[in-house]
This record gives sequence, structure tokens and C-alpha cells, in this order.
Amino acid sequence: MQGVAILGSTGSIGTQALEVIQRFPDRFRVVALAAGRRVEVLAEQVRRFRPELVAVAGPEEARRLRELLGSGPEPEILTGEEGLAAVATAPGAEAVLTAVVGTVGLQPTLAAIQAGKRILLANKETLVAAGELVMREAARHRVPIIPVDSEHSALFQCLQGHPREGVARLILTASGGPFRGWKRADLERATVEMALRHPRWRMGPKVTVDSATLMNKALEMIEARWLFDIPIDRIGVVVHPQSIVHSLVEFQDGSLLAQLGATDMRLPIQYALSYPERLPGPLPSLDLVALGSLTFEAVDEVTFPSLNYARAAVTMGGTMPAVLNAANEVAVRRFLSGAIPLTGIYRIVEGVMAAHTPVPEPDLEAILAADRWARQVAEAFPA
Ligand code: MG
Repeated sequence: MQGVAILGSTGSIGTQALEVIQRFPDRFRVVALAAGRRVEVLAEQVRRFRPELVAVAGPEEARRLRELLGSGPEPEILTGEEGLAAVATAPGAEAVLTAVVGTVGLQPTLAAIQAGKRILLANKETLVAAGELVMREAARHRVPIIPVDSEHSALFQCLQGHPREGVARLILTASGGPFRGWKRADLERATVEMALRHPRWRMGPKVTVDSATLMNKALEMIEARWLFDIPIDRIGVVVHPQSIVHSLVEFQDGSLLAQLGATDMRLPIQYALSYPERLPGPLPSLDLVALGSLTFEAVDEVTFPSLNYARAAVTMGGTMPAVLNAANEVAVRRFLSGAIPLTGIYRIVEGVMAAHTPVPEPDLEAILAADRWARQVAEAFPA
């Protein structure tokens, strides 16, 4: 029986992880859940999974949660950063699924690593902002980091049993998002509603907007760079609108290994939970004949400049990726609130990166300081 703690249990990944866990009640046990403000959903999860420990955003959410639970289960309820850290290090948890969105996931992930927990990583900002630091800590504590993101899960699966020296290139696939085929001038007119209508994946609003700008793929390049210790110039991206091939590894002999599967996050979530074992999946077999064809095309980097930001940020190194990530997070929030156009996200990210002098080999303090600085500048940046 594997004890699991989930950071971000009421989000898209968190709820799907609980769906997976529910199908294997004799293998996984939920010991701790952390959520933000969706207290009603959390109360339902607490009733169903009976964790010993729960964390919410603040005292008001804690009060409402107690009220909703009434005379039902009585987990320990903590709040804020302290709550997140407690869930990340919950004594009964062997694995911690980090599914919160944004840089807020960084410190609890580090705490979980230091507590020796197996990390099921769904929070990509952690590796983007602090990849070098996080991977170093994971190695020091001999903690495996198992990716949940579909692309990285695919790469992780394709790399099983292959010495790293034989790898020539990683190829991430991108669906292309809702604006595939658009030109820059059209993109200026993209609305929030259009950006949130993702053609393939069901995901939260931040990731969905990141998919529309291809910033998601930029963050994933940086994530892959650290997860698999491959230089950024050997990480490519190809648009694959069907989202069936989740990514590929090219080896030195010219062989390509790909991982294919239905477009459903429950599959990589389940693999991260059961790794290295395989458990029965929730879906019927993928019907290749019904799919008919799988197509691939180049990324239009003139219209969607995000991938270049990733290359530049990793090449400049130090705190630059953290700045890219923080500026993007603020820019996405400004876009979702209706304050700026979609392309304003590019202007903000580019502008904030241009204004930053990266601190080399940053420690956690330096990363968090760069993150705060970038947020401030991005908040006021004309877009
Ligand atoms: Mg992804």
C-alpha cells in the first residue's frame, strides 16, 4: 500500500489523480491533501478518501471546510505555506504529487525531496525556476522525480533501460493549441474565450493559455533539460495536432522511440503512481485504424516566439528561467483578467527578460528574489 499526498487536489491534475487512486483502493492510500479555495470539492474528497491531514489557503477556508464536514471526518486542517509544507512532508506519504500551478509549488517540492518522498512532478514551474537546485537536492537525497506531464512521461518511458550517452535528441510534441495556423496579426485579436478552448486536452486555465501561446512548450523544454540532463540545443519541438504521440527520443544510431496513447492525463498520472509497474488503464485500447493518420509540422516560431525565450533563458542561465516563468505567470493572469491582449504576454516576457541580469548558480533565496522582482516588473509592464 503506497501512501500518497497531493498538493493541488482540487485542480485538473489533482482530481484526475484521485480518479486513478479510487480505481486501486488496495494499492494507494491518500494520506494528505492540499487545496486552495475550492473548499466544497475538497470536502467531498475528504469524505471519500479520509486523509489524516488537509491544507487550505487560509483561516476562512479552514472554517468553511470544518463546517462542510460537520460531524463527518475530522482531519487535521492547516493553512497557507505551513499547510503546504506539512502535506508535502506528511509522515505516511511515500509519494507526493505536486500538482499546484505556479512557483508556489517550488518550496513544498523541495521540502518533500528533503523528507525523502518520491516526487510525482506535475508542477512544471518548479523545474523551470529552479531545475538545477531541485535536481541536485533530489540526487543528494536519492529521491526519484517522476514526471506527470504527458510529454515528459513519454520521454521518461522511452528512456527506460537506455544509457543516457546514447541519446541524440529529445523531441517534444505540441498540439499547436487553438491558434495553430494563425499569423501574428490575427493573434492580436485572440480573446480569452478562444484561448481557453483547447482542441485536445482538458486542463486548468493557466496551462491552457500557456498552450495557446506555446509558452507551455517553452516551459516544457526547460523542464526536460533538467529532468533528463540534456542540453537545450538537443531538445526539439514538433507540432502534432492529434496529440497521440506524446513525445519521442532520438538515439545516436538514428532510431526514434515514441510513446503513444490516448489524450487523457489519467494515463501519465497512473504511470507515475505505479512506476515501474503497469496497471490496467481506464480506457479501451487505442484504435489506430480509426485514428487513420498522425501528422507532424514545424512550429511557426515567427507567430509564436516562446521557444526562443526558453533557449535564451537556459543559455543565459542562472535566474533567467525563473524570471521567464514569473513574468509569464503574471502576464497570463493579466490576459485572463482582460487587461492585455494575448500577444501582450510575449511583450511582457521579452521585456522583463531583457531588463534582468541573471544571477549565476542561484540558491533558493536568489531564485525567489528574482521571481519576486520579475513579478513586480511584469505587473506594471506596458503590453
Ligand atoms: Mg504537457
